[in-house]
Amino acid sequence: MAILIDCGCSSKYIIKNLNYLNITPQNIKAAFITHAHSDHISTPGINFLHNNDIPIYLHQDIYSDILKKHRDKIEKCNIVPFYKSVEIENIFVQSFDVHHKDKNISHTLGFTFSSTINERKYKIGYLTDTGKVCDKIIKNLVNSNILIIESNYNKTILNSSFRTYNNKKWILSEKGHLSNEDAANAIYKIRSLSTSKDSLKYVFLAHISKHHNTNSLAIKTSKKLLLSKNIHDVKLFITKRNQKCPTIRIN
Ligand SMILES: [Zn+2]
Repeated sequence: MAILIDCGCSSKYIIKNLNYLNITPQNIKAAFITHAHSDHISTPGINFLHNNDIPIYLHQDIYSDILKKHRDKIEKCNIVPFYKSVEIENIFVQSFDVHHKDKNISHTLGFTFSSTINERKYKIGYLTDTGKVCDKIIKNLVNSNILIIESNYNKTILNSSFRTYNNKKWILSEKGHLSNEDAANAIYKIRSLSTSKDSLKYVFLAHISKHHNTNSLAIKTSKKLLLSKNIHDVKLFITKRNQKCPTIRIN
């Protein structure tokens, strides 16, 4: 059984990546959508979900945002209010509101996936696309065993990039994206507030901009902060666009 988060790419790309994991589209029991930007939900992505009968779960406002672009394609959806838990085959998925919006999108969600395996509780936190990490977000992600978090940009590279002034201003704003430093601070905060002994063993740095960041800067920033706080047991990974990243088996 698998759960997909977002679907902003072609069917060919998704199937190629599912093959790496030995997952078929029929294994996917739900697709949760974070927000309506086209790198997260696109016409080819919607077609893939429809053609494979994969149920879509999203918030009402995100559904409305998507409807503006894909009116005749996305009809059957499961509307999920913020903070309401949805059960997908013994995995409880809870959404929370994050800070990422512009004139085309009204809301963006983060998720936690919780399950009990052999009487032990496991939790995965998912946070991409947010301009800041407030206390409420931290509270949702505390005690995650695995965290996927955006480490989008390096400020110096972004400031000297080709993007327009307004675009840079939005990326840097509290409604834009997370810098490497913001991601590092969030990881440290989540870790220091977690009480479970297996919390934050694995952290995947995601949504790394190919224009405003490098993989090594992203990982170096988080590693440096954690080591400076005497935290040595968080394994950090980079998620890459065209390469398989490590998989974690929970049992
Ligand atoms: Zn976005």
